[in-house]
Formats: sequence, structure tokens, C-alpha cells
Amino acid sequence: FVGLDTVVKSKVYTNPEINILKVWSSMLASLINNQRSGKLLEQTRQNYETFFNTIDDFLIIIDRRGIIVHANETVYRRLGYSPDEIINQSVINIRPLERRDEAKTIFMKMLKGETDFCAIPLLTKSGTQIPIETHVKSGYWDGEPRIFMVSKDISQIKLSEEKFSAAFQSNSAIMVITRFADDQFVDANNAFVSTLGYSREEIKGKTLLTLGIVRGNLEEGTIQDAINRGIPMREIEINAYSKSNELYIFLLSAEEIYIGSERCVLSVAVNITERKIMENELRRAREEADQANLAKSEFLSRMSHELRTPMNSILGFAQLLEMGELNARQSKGVNHIMKSGKHLLDLINEVLDISRIEAGRLSLSLEPVHVNTVIREMIDISIPLANERQLSILIEQSADDHLFIRADRQRLKQILLNLLNNAIKYNKAGGSVMIKTQLMTIDLNGIASVRISISDTGYGISEEDIPKLFNPFERIGAEKSNTEGTGLGLAVVKKLISAMGGNLGVKSIPGEGSTFWIELPHASGQLESVEKSGILTELDTELAGKKGTILYIEDNASNVELVEQILSIQRSEIHLITNMYGNMAVGLAIKHQPDLILLDLNLPDVHGSEVLIQLQNEEKTNKIPVVIISADAMPQQLTRLLKAGAKNYLTKPLDVLDLLKVIDQFI
Ligand code: ADP
Repeated sequence: FVGLDTVVKSKVYTNPEINILKVWSSMLASLINNQRSGKLLEQTRQNYETFFNTIDDFLIIIDRRGIIVHANETVYRRLGYSPDEIINQSVINIRPLERRDEAKTIFMKMLKGETDFCAIPLLTKSGTQIPIETHVKSGYWDGEPRIFMVSKDISQIKLSEEKFSAAFQSNSAIMVITRFADDQFVDANNAFVSTLGYSREEIKGKTLLTLGIVRGNLEEGTIQDAINRGIPMREIEINAYSKSNELYIFLLSAEEIYIGSERCVLSVAVNITERKIMENELRRAREEADQANLAKSEFLSRMSHELRTPMNSILGFAQLLEMGELNARQSKGVNHIMKSGKHLLDLINEVLDISRIEAGRLSLSLEPVHVNTVIREMIDISIPLANERQLSILIEQSADDHLFIRADRQRLKQILLNLLNNAIKYNKAGGSVMIKTQLMTIDLNGIASVRISISDTGYGISEEDIPKLFNPFERIGAEKSNTEGTGLGLAVVKKLISAMGGNLGVKSIPGEGSTFWIELPHASGQLESVEKSGILTELDTELAGKKGTILYIEDNASNVELVEQILSIQRSEIHLITNMYGNMAVGLAIKHQPDLILLDLNLPDVHGSEVLIQLQNEEKTNKIPVVIISADAMPQQLTRLLKAGAKNYLTKPLDVLDLLKVIDQFI
């Protein structure tokens, strides 16, 4: 009450009273403090226990004799013992029987402070072992000096180590682990030892370079460099040498790995030596086969070319004989010579075509060709044969009469003639042949094509024979009939079509007839594109009234038409003479003495370069300027032609302005 009284009534305390109050208050304060720290101590203890028990590691506290004084719940839960079976027991007892001596030795060392680590597993009550790593620390527990043992379960790590080790050792690929810092071997697998012949002892402290396994083609630091820059080292081809200096070729991949805290490189090398050898052999064999094939084609091509000359003379003289007076036997003989000779010539020509294409010596002149013109020309040629067999040839009118395709005119004619002849030859007497032209839809490359189909009303071809049709010398039974043929026609057709970038196909119903079709890229006619451009009507110069004569040797009607049109609009006073045969050129030039000769190279009878020589050799024509017009001339060919006397050349498709320039230059 001493203190509280003054709240109600003022009082002056005496010194003894103050001292008593001081003593009392300090007694009171320490009483309260004591109570508080007791509570705190209990809380700390509880915290500590909870913490102790929630830890997954095994925590065991032992005294200096090795007797367990405390353990956390993990110990009881994982090992399956009750506290009675643990507390006051030797820590050695929870180790496997066979390792207890070892455990004792380590424990003694721990006591002396010589080691703080132990890797002997723990033994559960049921007798299984848990692999652990134990670290120890000295300290105090309940005021007594104690040893704290913390054991970590490493069974997962052990398991993955075992898996890695099995994968590493038994892998058929060579695997090595090297230290990142100095390239030295850490480990190498069985495949390394057995393939390269080094034992694990021999590689200790060495590197791939110092052992001479890799020489020069994998410089020091290359792998580390790549890893540091984050570039994956994948399947790099390297040469490697075994201990006995045998060469191997490997595909090397490398990866950064950590072993403990050490940065290492895991390199995996797949042995591709055999594969490489095989690949090289295959390549060589293929090259040899290609060369042999080319040589064969060259040989065939030369041979058939050489055979043609004597054949022509045999046939020529047989023809002369035929015209003379012959008795019945002689006439029959000559007939045989003519028939067999023609057959032989057909064979030679077709073999020549096939081998030329195979040897890559077929020169094609691709230009816009007016489809209907060519079809009509070929029908004209085929009509006599059709009449002989009382067959009619019909054309199905297409919506567009002005379809053009990109093709070599002569070769297109050859293809159509072949198909038409077959449709007539393999038809029933009195049947018909139908020709149809269609513009097809645009394909994936944005190019439309034109399809020409030739259908007959013949005996047809069975489904299993269709794939054989285009094989050389395959006549599918026709050899037994008296239908003449070589069995090479369709093979030539197929090769020509693919050389021109086209397609072909067959559909047949046995007994009813067959349809053979070809498809070639659609093109726009030159005249049409020039007309569309409006360029023809725009040009109007004072040169329009020029007079003169031009001889144009060209077999493509649409080109002739174009030049005619250009002249009639732009140079209407110039007279144009045209002819499709090269052999006619000299005669026409002598007769008309033109101011200029325009000469195509790809002509049906002779090559344009031949015509140029003929013109140069003739006195009456060798002063007339000749300008070459060609779709396919190679630079060397043009140089040759210019040297041979041509004044200039123009390329197809014709450029109107270039053509006019040339005309104005020479007229
Ligand atoms: P050839 O006519 O010289 O025998 P081809 O290569 O042109 O050689 O044709 C090969 C074979 O395909 C012919 O022998 C013939 O049996 C068959 N064949 C070709 N065209 C037709 C067709 N329109 N109808 C039926 N069979 C055909």
C-alpha cells in the first residue's frame, strides 16, 4: 500500500521508506522475470523439438561412449524401432552386422576429431539397409557435452548413380568424362577401352590430345569454348586413332556435366567408320555405274549415228532397184530389203534418240507452239495410213483454238506422230481415232498445262501390261501380230516428254480402246502477247516506208505470223518470203536476192548452222546478211555462228523493238 496511498493523498516519503520500496520493487520485478523466462524456455524447447522432428534427415545425439541419448522422429519412423529400442543403445547397433567393426573405428576417429564423416548405412528393424552419409558435430545437450550426428538418406542419389554408371559403362557408344579445367580424363567406359585399346590406368592424368587419340582435328579448348558460348556440340565428325594407331571415324557430341561440384565434360562418340567406308564404296560404285552408263549411251548414240549413213544408201539404192525392171523374184527380194531396211532405220533412229537423251546430248528448243497447227500437220501425215485401214481421224473442237504450249516443235511432232501411228496401228479396222485438246487447271507451281489426248477404238491394253508400255523393246505381244514396230516408240515419247518438263499417261479398257495423253506447260502465243502490249500500233517512225525483201527460214507458223504482223503494221513496204525447210534457203535466196535472211536454227530437215554454211559457200548468196533467230542457242554456239558469218542473232520469244532495229540496220 505504501506506493498506492499517494494516488489518493499526497505524501512525502522518508528515505528509509524509499529504500524499502526500492527493495520490494526489485524483488517483484525479478519474480515476474523468472516466470517469463521459464515460459520462453519451454517455448524454445517445443520449437526445437518440432524442428528436430520435421527434418527428413536422421538426427541422433550420442554421448562420448557412443550411447544414444536423443533421436528425432525420422529415426523411429524410418528405422522402425521404438524409443526403448533406441535410447541408451550404442549407435553401432543400428549399423549392419558385418560393418560394425568398421563403424567402431570411424567412431573412434570422430571422437579424436580426425574425421567428421561416415558412409556406413543404417540398419532398419526389419533388416534392410538405408544408404546414408553422416556428418557429426560436437555440442551440448541438456548441459552435457554431446555429439550430434546428422545422416542424409542418399538412396535416390545412389540409384541414379547406379543407373548412370550402368548406362555409361555398357553403352555401345564410346563415352568419356573429362575435367573441364584441364581436359584430363575422369572416367572412360568399356567401349572406349575395348575400341581404342587404352586401359583405365593408362588414361589417368592424360588428355585425348596428349594420348594422340585426336590429332589436330579437335583443338584444345574447342569443346569448352562451344559449351561456354552455349553452342551445342552435336555429331561432329572427327578422326580418332587407337593405341595401335588404327584410324576411326566418330560422330562426337559433348555435354557439360557436374560431378559433385566439379565441372566436367561428357563426350559421346559413335563409331561410324564402317558406315563411312560403305558410303564411300557406294559413292564410288555409283560414280562408276553412272560413268559406265554414260559411256554406254555415248557409244550407242555414236554407233546409231554411224549406222544411219550406210542405211540411207542401202535404202536409196534399193529404191532405185525397185524402179528398174525386175522379175517377180527380184522384186520380192527388193521389197524385203526395203521393208527390213526401213525397220532397221526406225530402230536406229529411235535408239539414237534414247541414247542422246540419256547421254544428255539432246538439244531442245523450247518455244511457244500453236497446238492445233501441229496436230493438223501430223494428221495430214497420218491420213494415208488411216485410209489404208479404213479409219477416221476426228478432232474434238476445244473451246480455245489458240492454245499454245511451251515445247520443242520438232520433238512435239515426233511425239504426236508416234501416238497417232500407234492409235492407227493398234486399232480395229473401220474404227476411229479422236484427238482432243484441253487447257488444264493451274498446278501447285502456278503453271497451267495443256493436255492433248489421243483415243482409239482398238483392242486396248490390260491393266498389268500398262506399266510395261514405256519399257524399251516391250511390244506386249504385238511382235506376234504382223503389226510393224520396234517397241521403242513409247520409250522415246516418255523420255522426250519428261525432257520438255511434261507428263504423260494412259487409260485403257480392253476390248474398247485406249487413250494416251500428254501434258505440256501452257504458253501464251507471241503474237497475242505482242498485240496485248499495244507496242505494234504505238510505233510509228519515218522508217515505216522502207522498201526491201526479207527471207525468213522458220518452221514455227506462229513465229512467221508474228513477223508478218510486225512488218505489215510497222514496215508495210517490206516484202516477206518464208519457208520452213533449211534446204530451200539457198535456192530462194538466189531467186529473190533478199536484203536480209532471218534464219531459225531448229528446222525439220537440217540444222540452221548447216544452212548458214550453205549460204556462205554459195557465191550468189554469201553477201546477203544472215541474222539467226533461236530459242536455245548456247553462248558458244552463238560465237561459233557469228564467226561463221552470221551478222547478228535474236532470241525467242522475239522482242519487237530488237527485230525492227535489226531490220532497219540491214535494209
Ligand atoms: P511399237 O509400236 O513400235 O511396237 P511402242 O513403244 O510405240 O512400240 O509401243 C509399245 C507397245 O505398246 C506396242 O507394241 C503395243 O503392244 C502397245 N501399244 C502402243 N500403243 C497402243 C495402242 N494405242 N493400243 C494398244 N496397244 C498399244
